[in-house]
Amino acid sequence: MAESRTNKKKCSFCGRSENEVGFLITGMNGYICDSCATQAYEITQEALGAAKNGAGATKLNLKELPKPVEIKNFLDQYVIGQDDAKRFLSVSVYNHYKRLLQKDSGDDVEIEKSNIIMVGSTGTGKTLLARTIAKLLHVPFTIVDATVLTEAGYVGEDIESILTRLLQVADYNVPEAEQGIVFIDEIDKIARKGDNPSITRDVSGEGVQQGLLKLLEGSVVNVPPQGGRKHPDQKMIPVNTKNILFICGGAFDGIEKKIAQRLNTHVVGYNASQKTAAIDKNNMMQYIAPQDLKSFGLIPEIIGRLPVLTYLNPLDRTALRAILTEPKNSIIRQYVKLFEMDGVKLTFQDEVFEYIVDKAVEYKLGARGLRSIVETIMMDVMFEIPSENKNTYEVTLDYAKHQLEKANLARLQNA
Ligand code: ADP
Repeated sequence: MAESRTNKKKCSFCGRSENEVGFLITGMNGYICDSCATQAYEITQEALGAAKNGAGATKLNLKELPKPVEIKNFLDQYVIGQDDAKRFLSVSVYNHYKRLLQKDSGDDVEIEKSNIIMVGSTGTGKTLLARTIAKLLHVPFTIVDATVLTEAGYVGEDIESILTRLLQVADYNVPEAEQGIVFIDEIDKIARKGDNPSITRDVSGEGVQQGLLKLLEGSVVNVPPQGGRKHPDQKMIPVNTKNILFICGGAFDGIEKKIAQRLNTHVVGYNASQKTAAIDKNNMMQYIAPQDLKSFGLIPEIIGRLPVLTYLNPLDRTALRAILTEPKNSIIRQYVKLFEMDGVKLTFQDEVFEYIVDKAVEYKLGARGLRSIVETIMMDVMFEIPSENKNTYEVTLDYAKHQLEKANLARLQNA
């Protein structure tokens, strides 16, 4: 009886019986065999792939997109201060969306893209801003490092590889990648070494800038899909960079001197003393102008393609104190969470925070150093607490001092 019932089981797709196939999957009113299921999967994948490529870029709807104020409010939750940079970024991203939508408007006013350059000392939040804004973007976004780029034919990566990452993020959907945003970090590292055009070969400087210029201007670039060096056998993917927004960031170490020089030459003569008095020497970055980038070694054509120039402020005591506890994923909140996972409620005496900031300032460790200091203070507790039967732990000032004194903070300075 059981025998005859099994024999009746047939794949509802190919009609083969149970003993002719690997196995049958039972449905409500029928069966499917393993080979038909595999085939069905392949057909589905193919259809989905075709739909995706055919669909092209995702349609944006301006009403649903975050407004500049909303973008900035979001950035405020994660990044302390840097209001100027935040406003510039928010507006540029919003305008980028508008540019992408302009195709549909049908008139002759073409909105040109406004690539951005952010200048600010290392560790002041440039990359953090870029990473944070990426969280709410509606287009593909990637961060690339300019330090690895060299002119084609030299050791390092070709400029086109910048776009490989964007393609990967967009799942190789070219129209979508063509609307993306690329953050190029450490752009100052491709500055040419002197103010004068070089006579000798400058493979990691001016040549790279020339290459980058093509991307910034908007052109069709052949991108190696897997990145790295162009390889004769590798199939290239043409990508049009016309609508890709580029955000560049760099520390431009020493540019303050160039700014000061420029300001000094300008303030000679009438009104000079008044103007000099108004200059805040602790934050020269705020006076940055395109000609300073030129003095630093960026070629004028590149500067011209980065029309939005903004700066980041150095982080003072107040900013460092805020960075410690205020951002949504601040260092202290992260430790509280780590302890929470062991069922321990972690608290700090308020003086501990002041002490941490004091040390970061004293050893000139900046915001990056805050984490190393907290890590040094917490290491022993983190080692012991999971094996102890505690449900609260308070970090006292005495304990923090004791931990830091036995560690050698100076070693963190070059971290
Ligand atoms: P940059 O790119 O300017 O060199 P990062 O953005 O990488 O600096 O900053 C390094 C770290 O310091 C960040 O991961 C963050 O923890 C902290 N940090 C720096 N600036 C800020 C800021 N303005 N607000 C909050 N955290 C900051």
